Amino acid sequence: MTKPFASSADTEEKPEDLEVLADGVYALVTGGDPNVGAIEAEDFLICFEARATPVMARRWLDRLREHTDKPVRYLVLSHYHAVRVLGASAFGAEAIITHAETKRLIAERGQQDWDSEFGRMPRLFTGHDTVPGLTWPTITFADSMSIELGGDRGTLELAWAGRGHTSGDIYAWLPRPRILFAGDLVENGSAVYTGDAYHQDWRTTTLDNIKSLNAEILVGGRGEIARTAPDSARAVELTREFLDLLVTSVDKVRRAGGTVREAYRAAREALLPGYGGMPVFEHAVVFDTQRVWEELAGEPPAIWTAERDREIWNQLT
Ligand SMILES: [Zn+2]
Repeated sequence: MTKPFASSADTEEKPEDLEVLADGVYALVTGGDPNVGAIEAEDFLICFEARATPVMARRWLDRLREHTDKPVRYLVLSHYHAVRVLGASAFGAEAIITHAETKRLIAERGQQDWDSEFGRMPRLFTGHDTVPGLTWPTITFADSMSIELGGDRGTLELAWAGRGHTSGDIYAWLPRPRILFAGDLVENGSAVYTGDAYHQDWRTTTLDNIKSLNAEILVGGRGEIARTAPDSARAVELTREFLDLLVTSVDKVRRAGGTVREAYRAAREALLPGYGGMPVFEHAVVFDTQRVWEELAGEPPAIWTAERDREIWNQLT
């Protein structure tokens, strides 16, 4: 018998609120679904994340066009996951920017990830038949990249903080208003998906690097916007605490000679009090446990396919 994914019961459309974070800085916050953002330069726009399909992207752009009609010069993608990249064609961007590692991951596993994520989260793929194909970055970098915004708007810094949610996540940072778009490196009021993660780096140096920015406003991959420096620091620690509980509970079962299914149960129990009511909790912990198990055995992230999703789900739940 095949058990349905926890996420397949999640069919209700979420409210979408466009928030103006500062003059010319916008975010679309979506009730636990992937957040996206936009930064206005003097003559152009930079969009951060693309959503899962051109139809979903157009909904966001329609809202954004109530505030600005500047053309999108750069579309910045924080990492390779389908729900954040496959809407790219709707932006008509001059260039698509990612970390070099993200381009490598798209080539290696982009199609499998598309099939996997569509199977797990069909609601996020409204208009899935409008996706023209995989999204290919046209500009990549390894450490950091600055974009001059023109006028007295300062610069936008794009940077890699270390391995984390994937090996290639980047963040977007506006040093002057101290606004951080953290992508899935930080979740604020959502469970944390770690199926492609490097937990040990993420929960130590990578999150330390993010925290040292001292953001005043932090937009995470999912969940609410943190609107003060203490709230932003708390969002980082909420993410770290999730990773710590996940890794320590899986590690304990593994060292005691237990099974991955027992590790899943232990991780779920450890995380339930703090994170149980949050978006994607039941969905994420299964795949997260499998990835921690493999990382502790020294393995790189395996490629998630629609078939492997089913197999692991049936095995662990
Ligand atoms: Zn992701």
